[in-house]
Amino acid sequence: MTTYLGLPTAPAGTGHLRGSEPFPAAARRALANTQLRANLAMATATIRAKRAEVVAELGDWEQLRAAGQAAKAGAMRHLDRYLEQLEATVQAGGGTVHWARDAAEANQVVAGLVEATGSRDAVKVKSMVTDEIGLNEALAAAGIRAHETDLAELIVQLGHDHPSHILVPAIHRNRAEIREIFLREMAGVDPGLSDQPAALAEAARLYLRRKFLSARVGISGANFAIAETGTVCVVESEGNGRMCVTLPEVLITVMGIEKVLPSWADLAVFMQLLPRSSTGERMNPYTSMWTGVTPGDGPQQFHLVLVDNGRTAVLADETGRQALHCIRCSACLNVCPVYERVGGHAYGSVYPGPIGAVLSPQLTGVEENPTLPYASSLCGACYDVCPVKIDIPSVLIHLRARHVEEARSHHRLPGPEAIVMAAASWVMAGPSRFAAAQRAVRLGRPLGRRRGRIGQLPPPLARWTQARDLPVPPAQTFRQWWRDEHREPSRGEQRRPS
Ligand code: SF4
Repeated sequence: MTTYLGLPTAPAGTGHLRGSEPFPAAARRALANTQLRANLAMATATIRAKRAEVVAELGDWEQLRAAGQAAKAGAMRHLDRYLEQLEATVQAGGGTVHWARDAAEANQVVAGLVEATGSRDAVKVKSMVTDEIGLNEALAAAGIRAHETDLAELIVQLGHDHPSHILVPAIHRNRAEIREIFLREMAGVDPGLSDQPAALAEAARLYLRRKFLSARVGISGANFAIAETGTVCVVESEGNGRMCVTLPEVLITVMGIEKVLPSWADLAVFMQLLPRSSTGERMNPYTSMWTGVTPGDGPQQFHLVLVDNGRTAVLADETGRQALHCIRCSACLNVCPVYERVGGHAYGSVYPGPIGAVLSPQLTGVEENPTLPYASSLCGACYDVCPVKIDIPSVLIHLRARHVEEARSHHRLPGPEAIVMAAASWVMAGPSRFAAAQRAVRLGRPLGRRRGRIGQLPPPLARWTQARDLPVPPAQTFRQWWRDEHREPSRGEQRRPS
C-alpha cells in the first residue's frame, strides 16, 4: 500500500452506483425519456437564471473565486497538518474523532455508534459522502433505519430511487409523481393529497416532525470543518438540518477529509461563493455550526468520522487533485449541455454532471469508470461557473489520457482507434497524401446532396453517423479557394493603364 502525506492510500471508493450501465448506454436510454428532459430543462434554466442574477450583483466575484481556489489549494497542500489540527480541536471541545480508510470502515464505525445508543432509528441531513459510502444500505443491513429529512432526499428515499442532482436530488420527478410516491409510501398521509407544492410540503412536514421528535441519533455530513477551532458547518435551506444537529442526544458527522479549512477567514469566502452558486441566494437560509459539545445544550455526544475512501489517491495526482476542491454547489451541472439532456442517473455515479465525470473515476480508479471522462462536449461552461475555478475540461482530458495509457498497457496489439489515428497522422503528414485524401472525400458529395448531410455511413464507420451529423464535403477545398483567391491575374485579366 502506497502512502501520501503520511496517510495510507485507501482502496477504491464505492461512489459508483451498483448495477449501473456504462454512460453511453445509459445516456441513450435517458435521451428517450421526454418527461425527464422537460423536467431537467425547466429546473436547470430556473436555477441558472437565479445564479446569474445574484452573481452579477458582486463586483468582486472573480476575486472571490480566486480566493476560494487559493484557500482550497492551500488546504490540500497541507492536508495532513490541518486534519491533525482538526482532530485535536474537536477533541478539546468534547467531541470524538474516528478515521475511516474506506466505505466499509466508515459504515462500521457509524453502525457501531448507533447500536451503542440502543436506538434502531436515526434522522439524517442530506449528505453526499454518506451516499458515496452507501451508509443507508449498511445501516439497514445492521437493522437500523436512517430517515432522510431533506425534502428532495425524502422523495428519493420513499421512491426507492437514486438522487440525480447534487442539490436537487429529485430533479427528475414532477409534482404528480411526488404525490403518487407520498400516497403510496408515507404512513398516515391524507388520501386526498393534492399535487400543489404547499400541500406536498405540509405532508412531508407532518411526517418528518414525528421522526425529529422521537430520534435519539442524528447523522449529518459537513460542508466545511475549521481546523483552528474544531467547528463543523452545515448549510441547508429547509431547517431540517438544524433539527438533526440540535435535537438528538447523539450527533454523528461523516465528512470527507477534503472538507477541512484552515481558518474562519477561509470560511468567510465560501459563505459568499456557495449560496450564490448553488441556490442563487445571497446567503443560506440555515447555516448551522457547532464546536464539540455543550453541557445541557444540544447533542451530548458528538462523533466526527473522517473518511478517505480514495481521496488520498486523488491527492497524489497533481492535475486531478483539484477535483477535491469542489464545494458541491452544483453550478456546473446546471450549465452542462450533457447533464441537461441525460440527467444524473446516466452517470451511474453518486456525483453526477461535470464534477462527477472528473471525481468519480478518480475515487473508483479510471479503469472502473472509463466512460465518464468522455461524458462531456468540453465546451468549458463548467469552468466558467465553478466558484473555486476547478478546470474541469483540463481534468477530463487528463483522465482520458490516463484511460488511453492504461488501455494501451493492457493490450499489446493496437486497437481500431489507434490504427485509424496512425493512418490519419500518416495522411496528414504529407501534402500530396492529404490532397489525395481530400479529393477522395469529395467523392462522397452525392450521398448527401438532398439533405445537406450524409445520414448513414457503411460499417464500421456507421457508429460515427449514428450519433453525429456528417456535413456534405464542400465543392471546393480550402486550398483550392486559397489558390483561386491569391493567384496572379492572367495577362488578359490585367487592366490596361488608362
Ligand atoms: S465542480 Fe465547481 S461548479 Fe461543480 S459542484 Fe463543484 S464547486 Fe460547484
